[in-house]
Amino acid sequence: MPQPLPGIASRIAAVRARVDDAARAAGRDPREVRVLLATKTQDAATVLEAVAAAAEAGLTGAGPVLVGENRVQELVAKAPALAPLVAAGAVEVHLIGHLQSNKVNPALATASCVESLDSLALAAALSTRCARDGRVLDVMVQVNVSDEASKSGVAPADAAGLAREVAALPGLRLVGFMTIGARPSPAGAPVGARSGDAVVRAGYARLRAIRDEVLAGGAPGTGEARELSMGMTLDLEAAVAEGATLVRVGTGAFGPR
Ligand SMILES: *Cc1c(COP(=O)(O)O)cnc(C)c1O
Repeated sequence: MPQPLPGIASRIAAVRARVDDAARAAGRDPREVRVLLATKTQDAATVLEAVAAAAEAGLTGAGPVLVGENRVQELVAKAPALAPLVAAGAVEVHLIGHLQSNKVNPALATASCVESLDSLALAAALSTRCARDGRVLDVMVQVNVSDEASKSGVAPADAAGLAREVAALPGLRLVGFMTIGARPSPAGAPVGARSGDAVVRAGYARLRAIRDEVLAGGAPGTGEARELSMGMTLDLEAAVAEGATLVRVGTGAFGPR
């Protein structure tokens, strides 16, 4: 692996320290929270620098460094650079953006987890392909906890039901739930139209409640659905306080996009 650039390395170490502090403040073991590198718009060389820095900073403890891509096209472009690290078990690639059923094959060539599962039709397409190939794909159900029309993911009321259907499909392993939090309005927004930290946190608490409901329900295939992928650079403290096991950081690691 190349040596990390000082800028990226120090930002990544700072992110890990923030997560550790947030975990301790919530009475949690920092090792319960892994950090994924959200690599959209970053070129392959920069991603490799960040992966080296992430390994050094222990972003994922002793486990593989997690890289999350939003778009299959970008995933495919960076796949050759990541392939040796993936093959060596040093990197795991997650898809964290919307996946169209016609892009399942190129996505599966590199990704070992789809965090953005948002429909039974997509789950069925992934399941068919994985079962045929004799492999198991990790999946998370993406939930739109803030009910913002602009955000993808299933409605909170439909999340547990979809999770149970997904968990029953061959070739898929339901490992948890993912969400993009509410975006707090800028400080200058008109009073009354403002969503603040309390709204963000309530959304994350909602995802945790969905996960707990599914785990407690005990439906077949749901026993490993423990992950809560929530929190980004600006709101990771709120997410860790509400039980995040995976936070996804882009600008905090790479600087402004
Ligand atoms: C970009 C992105 C992130 C990281 O966002 P930052 O604010 O840059 O930390 C996390 N999750 C998803 C799904 C993203 O698209």
